[in-house]
Amino acid sequence: MSAPDLAHAWEVAAAVPDPEIPVVTVADLGILRDLRAEGPVVVARVTPTYSGCPATAAIELAIEGALAGAGFDVRIERVLSPPWTTDWITEEGREKLRAYGIAPPEKAGNSVRALFGETLVTCPHCGSTTTERLSEFGSTPCKAHYRCLSCREPFDYFKCL
Ligand SMILES: [Zn+2]
Repeated sequence: MSAPDLAHAWEVAAAVPDPEIPVVTVADLGILRDLRAEGPVVVARVTPTYSGCPATAAIELAIEGALAGAGFDVRIERVLSPPWTTDWITEEGREKLRAYGIAPPEKAGNSVRALFGETLVTCPHCGSTTTERLSEFGSTPCKAHYRCLSCREPFDYFKCL
């Protein structure tokens, strides 16, 4: 039994798209933590965005399926600690979300309004921070629906914390 090629396995696993927002990958979102070898088996450590997120099982299956399809013996290990935060989203992931018309989550602690329990959300269309929340839930439970007061465009805010 030879050890699996972890570099190749990472390429395969990191390319798996998020089932809710297919423009970003599980690596972009920071959901895929790392891979390690246990004998001939690739163990993929996955941290769900939040424990109630219905996409978690789909994400784990997608990563497992991609690795198995590439010929790896794979086991998924769900890691709940430390909990996922939006700070784990890579810069590339944030760019892709913006390009897709979803406001990327603000980095924690960079907003004065966060002190008052309010999130400062930047419009992905024009960059204005003058935005209002229309509803707590957008097209999926992980998104809230917002409207920009500058350019009047509605948009989704990724809030899966
Ligand atoms: Zn705008």
